[in-house]
Amino acid sequence: MNDFIPPAKPIIGEEERAAVDRVLRSGMVAQGSEVAAFETEFGQHFHLDRPVVAVNSGTAGLHLGLLAAGVGPGDEVIVPSFTFAATGNSVVLAGATPVFVDIEPRTFGLDPSAVEAAITPRTRGILPVHLYGHPARITELEAIAQKHELALYEDAAQAHGASLENRPVGTFGEFAMFSLYPTKNMTSGEGGMVAVSNDGLARAMRLLRNQGMERAYANEIVGFNARMTDIHAAIGRVQLKKIDDWTRTRQRNAAFFDANLRGVVVPPVEAAAVHVYHQYTVRVPEDRDGFVAALRDEHGVGSGVYYPTPNHRLESLAPYAPQTNLVETERAAREVVSLPVHPSLSEADIERIVTAVNAVAQAGA
Ligand SMILES: *Cc1c(COP(=O)(O)O)cnc(C)c1O
Repeated sequence: MNDFIPPAKPIIGEEERAAVDRVLRSGMVAQGSEVAAFETEFGQHFHLDRPVVAVNSGTAGLHLGLLAAGVGPGDEVIVPSFTFAATGNSVVLAGATPVFVDIEPRTFGLDPSAVEAAITPRTRGILPVHLYGHPARITELEAIAQKHELALYEDAAQAHGASLENRPVGTFGEFAMFSLYPTKNMTSGEGGMVAVSNDGLARAMRLLRNQGMERAYANEIVGFNARMTDIHAAIGRVQLKKIDDWTRTRQRNAAFFDANLRGVVVPPVEAAAVHVYHQYTVRVPEDRDGFVAALRDEHGVGSGVYYPTPNHRLESLAPYAPQTNLVETERAAREVVSLPVHPSLSEADIERIVTAVNAVAQAGA
């Protein structure tokens, strides 16, 4: 059989290794000048036009972002259930209650009308996820937030460079988090970047990530150690130079799939949206798990199911969602399969993926 095609593959090259070596040789490895430079460059690169604060994971970014924004006990934050558990977890970690709301089926993002129906006197904010690298219906959510005087936050963990109506994701919310986990569109090893809408939030984030200190040993608040190291920042700075090429490759791979896949539902892209294809996610309405197994066992094509269990049904988060019933979320969890779309695929890989998907879809039809 052909070599296995993995569903994701981080690209770490000679330049990243050299950057790490440079930091290691300097002897200054903790948060310092590399992190500061990375924050500036990240904001400029993605046209965020706001301060960026680096932390040691995307999850820490969401958690500290919510705390900096003043979210706490007694507050409700509206989140999707069809996402990675870190989204809802961060709300719980901030002491607030996640309210799980359904997605709409095209973008896999929060359904604005369902969001509006879920607002209560305790609702503090809305935290949409730009899932798979496609922007959520963020302009509609922004209008709802304004109308009801709620905050808007963004989980942009998967959406570096995505935009809607020429506005980059990460510029809509009070804060927005981008993850740098190895399988995301770019990596620093581990890490998170939080874009914030004002200097007060930036300062609150910097205090929270560093034991409440801006000046050494003058601790102002009780904080965490959520600092990024200069080693990680050095990797991220190199990856910033490559991310645009990688995104274009993802988009080219996706266009080839769009044109050539048969027998599966390919992912729609909304008008005025730029999709950065963290995942290329199709729907397989019948026997998705059999489809995944056949791709792997008969064709050596890896794929992923993101996410098989809606968060409101996870043992960890279910206690926050006793009466929840989310039809589109359940359907997506049953039907989705993400195919390899990452920039390390060769042309032959792409063709093999198409051949495999079409053969398995045909056999199952
Ligand atoms: C990866 C991810 C996170 C968490 O980011 P980490 O850097 O892994 O902590 C949060 N939300 C979503 C949607 C993600 O995909």
